[in-house]
Amino acid sequence: MNGVKRMKQIWDLVVVGAGASGLMAAAAALEYTPGLRVLVLEKEKKPGKRLLATGNGRCNLSNRRISPQRYHGDADKIFPVLERFSVKAIEKRFASWGLPCREDDEGRIYPYNLQASAVQELLLHRIQRAGGEIRCCFSVLSCQKAGSEFCLQGEMQGAEEKIDARRVIFACGGLSYPSLGGSERSWGILGKMGHDIAKGFPALVSLKTEKKLAAPLKGARCKGRVTLRLENGKEASSQGEIQFTETGLSGICVFEISRLYGDGKSKAQLICDLMPEYTFGDLLHLLRIRGKDSSLPAGSLLDSILQKQVGREILRRCFGKGMGEKDGFPGEFTEKQLAAIAREIKNFSFPVLGTGGWDAAQVTAGGVRLKQINLETMESKICKGLYLAGEVLNIDGDCGGFNLHWAWSTGCLAGISAARSLKSPSALKTKKN
Ligand SMILES: Cc1cc2nc3c(=O)[nH]c(=O)nc-3n(C[C@H](O)[C@H](O)[C@H](O)COP(=O)(O)OP(=O)(O)OC[C@H]3O[C@@H](n4cnc5c(N)ncnc54)[C@H](O)[C@@H]3O)c2cc1C
Repeated sequence: MNGVKRMKQIWDLVVVGAGASGLMAAAAALEYTPGLRVLVLEKEKKPGKRLLATGNGRCNLSNRRISPQRYHGDADKIFPVLERFSVKAIEKRFASWGLPCREDDEGRIYPYNLQASAVQELLLHRIQRAGGEIRCCFSVLSCQKAGSEFCLQGEMQGAEEKIDARRVIFACGGLSYPSLGGSERSWGILGKMGHDIAKGFPALVSLKTEKKLAAPLKGARCKGRVTLRLENGKEASSQGEIQFTETGLSGICVFEISRLYGDGKSKAQLICDLMPEYTFGDLLHLLRIRGKDSSLPAGSLLDSILQKQVGREILRRCFGKGMGEKDGFPGEFTEKQLAAIAREIKNFSFPVLGTGGWDAAQVTAGGVRLKQINLETMESKICKGLYLAGEVLNIDGDCGGFNLHWAWSTGCLAGISAARSLKSPSALKTKKN
């Protein structure tokens, strides 16, 4: 109807992003102040898409060994947040909402039923039963502050819409896995509002090597110690299961050291010690014993020691070709050759040509720098009334539940702080347009 002024709602709190931190922020805000008018905006078709994919669908939601040392980026600043939102506090919160947890031998914490969907559904239920609204397929395009209020402009199925809010929480995540919501748009919005953003790069990611080195090992897995060494001498190591793929090396231990590769400007080598428990001397001794068995074909020298595919590749690298029966017997290896094989087992190396990229990175390193955030509340120091939570911040954690713990902690803190800053819910407040 032309000429009639449209009455618009002003939301108490709008949360941008229905991921782990955004859903936690909304649930915590509504628990803190029942009746608060809370709207969660999500650009994907479903809320919590990434959450459902975590921990291979089991959701490794925290870790008994939470400490600032397990985080990177502006990790020197996060102690107060982790102290306040300890593992126990997060477990207690979930338990008080009816979700018990369980722990594995490595201190990784999961929902008791080992289903990420239980966590996602719990959060959605908490928000909806408290009167909060979740709007999917809504992509926030800009955020402006006029006076003490915010105007968020967005797009939903081709139509543009404006939404007004008294408080806003950006819980918009990082840049990885675009299929699960990763996007640069919100980082751009926060940058335009004056935030200083550390350039993002993929972390917890596989590393690529030369095709000809990767191809013969594709599909093999073995335990070992893997070291990433940069040409400037810096290095990082981790131990665990190394997974060989068509393009390079993967597995949690590779993910954990991949961060050092950073933006990939430095030349790097991955060096695998496939038998870290053995000294070079012990290994040589073992090879000599095996080498005395002259009934075995040479190509099988390592078959009782290493995963077969890997053992064969070690021999190929040492002798420049595959070794079959025609190449003689293990007993025919010289001492020099056995030493070369032992060296290869302990220094199985690959030049690094890149990372698996944004489609494969479990987290984003980089984001809004914490010097611009009040860590007592998660409020931006640049823009009053705006709060940030989760992976959008310049913090990324190790593998093992550390990233979700950060998402819960900062989400909870942002939600409670935003709710507390509003003296009362504006249940009936409207705005003339
Ligand atoms: C495959 C995989 C497995 C993982 N497993 C684990 C694990 O087991 N344990 C662990 O601790 N961590 C794990 N992680 C990391 C963890 O999932 C993230 O650190 C965590 O989900 C970050 O939460 P978040 O709320 O900050 O971001 P997200 O969960 O990514 O949520 C951000 C949301 O904001 C939405 N959004 C962004 N911009 C806009 C916009 N402009 N408008 C509207 N909506 C927007 C996105 O669509 C997204 O849904 C895993 C990650 C991946 C990819």
